[in-house]
Amino acid sequence: FTGKTGSELLTEKVKKFKVREFQSIPIVVNESASVYDAISTMFLEDVGTLFVVDKNTCLTGVLSRKDLLRASIGNQDLTNVPVHIIMTRMPNITICKKDDLLIDAANKLINKQIDGIPVVKESEFGNEIVGRITKTTITKAFVELIKDDNF
Ligand code: ADP
Repeated sequence: FTGKTGSELLTEKVKKFKVREFQSIPIVVNESASVYDAISTMFLEDVGTLFVVDKNTCLTGVLSRKDLLRASIGNQDLTNVPVHIIMTRMPNITICKKDDLLIDAANKLINKQIDGIPVVKESEFGNEIVGRITKTTITKAFVELIKDDNF
């Protein structure tokens, strides 16, 4: 018996959750892709957030569902609108690293009111994208806490 309360044990457990253990594969499009291509990718890959990369697979932007919806209102030809025109771009992108605590990434999702955060690794070309954390990731971690309940 450790003498710790249930909530102390829970806190300990949550603070062991790292981004690297929960991150999923990032779905990316090239910055030269069209809005039409991005919408197709979003459906085919079944994700709500796409990350935009340059030729070195470094992060340059983010595309949400609403970014793409907004660009689709009106009658322009979406195959002729490049995503870099409508994306949220660096340096205004909220990022995280694989060694960050998952709870810190979760706080960023809430504070910035966004659905996803790219996991990046600094390379010689910029922020190389290696993963993603989304609201679904946090839901999975929440369920994980209860699964092997040992407190
Ligand atoms: P939706 O627009 O579908 O509600 P979000 O809430 O994730 O999805 O996105 C809201 C806005 O924030 C969008 O314009 C999007 O480009 C931007 N955004 C999404 N993720 C990030 C991020 N990690 N960093 C900065 N901006 C982001």
